[in-house]
Amino acid sequence: SVPLAFFGGISSAARQGILIKAVGLLEDLTKVDTFVFDKTGTLTEGQFSVAEICPRRMGPEELLEKIAYAESYSNHPIAYSLREAYEKPIEKKRLKWVREFAGYGVKATLDGQEVLVGNQKFLNQNQIFCPKTGKSGTGVHLAVDGEYEGYILIRDELREDTSDTIRELRKRQMSLVMLTGDNEQVAKEIGRKLKIDYIYANLLPEDKVEQVEEFLESEMGEEKLACVGDGLNDAPVLARADIGIAMGGLGSDAAIEAADIVLMEDEPYQIITALNIARETVRAVK
Ligand code: ADP
Ligand code: MG
Repeated sequence: SVPLAFFGGISSAARQGILIKAVGLLEDLTKVDTFVFDKTGTLTEGQFSVAEICPRRMGPEELLEKIAYAESYSNHPIAYSLREAYEKPIEKKRLKWVREFAGYGVKATLDGQEVLVGNQKFLNQNQIFCPKTGKSGTGVHLAVDGEYEGYILIRDELREDTSDTIRELRKRQMSLVMLTGDNEQVAKEIGRKLKIDYIYANLLPEDKVEQVEEFLESEMGEEKLACVGDGLNDAPVLARADIGIAMGGLGSDAAIEAADIVLMEDEPYQIITALNIARETVRAVK
């Protein structure tokens, strides 16, 4: 039988916006020694602002327009942000077909031309030379009919309570890891600012899963590994982890479904609250 205190712990968590899907998770939480974080939308807000528009030949409005159009069917935080920056309505009939490539970007037919929008890796993979921006931020590059046309530099801010959360986890001797599909420069800037121990960048969704599986294999004894994420691509990682934690507000349905714990307010500090509740509950039972 399950001690009543566990239900008390779960309802106290629920009152603070933390959905814990199973009773055993409270005890598991007290054994976590490693936290693996997704970056975009988890440590950061997932709302990018436009820092620079750098076209090669066309005007800046046209560059933004083409990119916003190509992104018009995507659920990616980058797509939302760029559509918002464009401000004008999208005439969907100008688009023929659109396909999204997870971890890379979008390919579309716009006004009869083939448009590629995404990271450097994506353009290179399509035999299009793409310069390094050398600037801090995420470059969203454009190619039209096989020609490189420039990029938009976007930036995302840390969530308000991310720094406090990471500091508190460090105080508790947790190993901290960040996995991201974003570029190395952005990953390192954020990782160093937060003092995260291990930083992995340029990862495809399947690379994230592989990395987490490697960590799980090296876990010893009773120790548990928790993963925290928000996006569609994070669902497999959240499912594999001993404890999967999803952002409930901005989070994708897939991530929320795959997770064991959901943070309804999208506040990383709720992790600390959950750890405290778990510790108190388990102490009360023993
Ligand atoms: P993460 O959530 O770890 O930042 P994703 O796997 O969702 O990563 O994306 C990794 C990278 O792929 C992004 O930083 C971006 O460069 C590129 N990318 C993915 N989807 C899109 C998109 N819809 N538009 C532009 N770039 C994209
Ligand atoms: Mg994310």
